[in-house]
Amino acid sequence: MDGSGNPWRYADIAILGDRIVGVGNFASASARRVIDATGKVVAPGFIDIHSHAAGPNYGRRGLRSDDPRRRAAPNLVMQGITTVVGNQDGRSMWPIAEQRDLLQANAFGPNVILMVGHGTVRREVMGDDFRRPATDEEIRRMAEMVRQGMNEGAMGMTAGLEYAPGRWSETKEVIAMVAEIVPFNGAYVSHERSEGADPMWYWPSEFAGRPPSLMDAVMETIEIGEATGARVVASHIKAKGANYWGASRTVIRMINEARDRGVQIYADQYPYATTGSDGSTVMIPRWVFRATGGGQRTTGDRQPPTGDRRPDLAAALRAVLEDDSLAVVLRADIEHEINRRGGPMRVMIMEADNADWVGKSVGELAAARGITPVDMAIALQLEGNPNRRGGVGTRGLSLSEYDIEPYAAEEWTMTATDGWVTLPEDGLTHPRVYGTFPRKIAYYAKERGVLSVEAAIRSSSSLPAEVMGLTDRGWLREGYKADVVVFDLETIKDKATIFEPHQYSDGIEFVLINGRFVVDGGEPTWAMPGRVLVRDETTASSTGPAGTSPLQGVRR
Ligand SMILES: [Zn+2]
Repeated sequence: MDGSGNPWRYADIAILGDRIVGVGNFASASARRVIDATGKVVAPGFIDIHSHAAGPNYGRRGLRSDDPRRRAAPNLVMQGITTVVGNQDGRSMWPIAEQRDLLQANAFGPNVILMVGHGTVRREVMGDDFRRPATDEEIRRMAEMVRQGMNEGAMGMTAGLEYAPGRWSETKEVIAMVAEIVPFNGAYVSHERSEGADPMWYWPSEFAGRPPSLMDAVMETIEIGEATGARVVASHIKAKGANYWGASRTVIRMINEARDRGVQIYADQYPYATTGSDGSTVMIPRWVFRATGGGQRTTGDRQPPTGDRRPDLAAALRAVLEDDSLAVVLRADIEHEINRRGGPMRVMIMEADNADWVGKSVGELAAARGITPVDMAIALQLEGNPNRRGGVGTRGLSLSEYDIEPYAAEEWTMTATDGWVTLPEDGLTHPRVYGTFPRKIAYYAKERGVLSVEAAIRSSSSLPAEVMGLTDRGWLREGYKADVVVFDLETIKDKATIFEPHQYSDGIEFVLINGRFVVDGGEPTWAMPGRVLVRDETTASSTGPAGTSPLQGVRR
């Protein structure tokens, strides 16, 4: 399966140094090492177009770690990943040249592509005064910095418009910055302003007016692509919240219609029903704790900060409950949050002092007591750990197969982990950091038949290569770099779960990066052949005027 999406065929692959030097019949040839892949699938190494492995947040615990075990990124290479596109959600280091030097100071496993972070540039220019639209002069300086980052080797720009400081940007600011990546043939990858009925920062009691929805957000990404001609990516696309499931139908139509107008819009997706922020679900709104100083962060994908301030959060909640009018507001907020996290049966207790609660949903616990889920959320705080927001660790399953499958089936959807480097000692984490690429193949292609296995491979290799402007990776072709994965289609299976995430997938037998084994016989080799990839100077930017899509009017 050469990455093109064409049906599989038999072939031998010849590798010399870091390159594929032939694809064909080499039955009579000899080599220093021969792998018999009879009956197995040989595919291009997977390109993870949304990764946090190299960025500022996880970077020091990832590919820039002092620990060579982390730099080898076993959880990534063991799922077939050979290249990660870093600096996602608008967060890069600055300057990009320095990040590149820091990365290259040590060896690491997968190849890395660096992007300019919109949020990082915005903060560099606006400082702490970012809770407002930028002035024209500030936008001019931001655009200049984007150009600098591209000159220093970035291959595009990412944004995090649901986060600070991107949240306060206007579309024209983003357009001005994305316009700068076009002459460099760069791509724009966006964590959009909203991923459901409302953004993650929204609580009904605290914000007046209508917050942006997923549809507003996708419309903005289309607008940015239309105004600049850039290839734009609606990243980790989803439809979050039990009251929003099914919205993928409309979003898919919006994207297809934009493509018909000549907008080069794509999406990427991690194939799971739970999100990153679902891992730190707290059903009790933050304002309840504000008077106490906030309280410790909950479980999830990030380490809780240490400190000795341990305010009594149960007492804070009790005080709110004693005020009848506040209690009404509180209940509305809790109900909204439970729905946004997938409804009471899909908000799971992950960690609790009371072991009986672990593994059960809020809805299940509520039913057993004969109380409402809202009252159960309150009970968890009052009876659970008083120093922990929410009283217990909870994870919502806020996404539905109604949306995951239709998105996965679209030919413009890429596979991406939104993941990072992790080792077993890191504790609970998202299963996508181990299982994303095998799951797309094993579950969505093989078991559910949502797309062909060849299409799943294409969504993980040649498609992200094309979007990122790579000209020597993403396909199994003569002259291409030897990033290769060999897997067994019979046995491939993701095994990581929300409760036991630290499990390699089955069936990934060999992975080569730049011609070197990082997985050999199903085991990580801990080799670190990765490189920071830079733009191929020979690829010209190609953008067309609106209305030039060749597929306009073609029936799907
Ligand atoms: Zn994101």
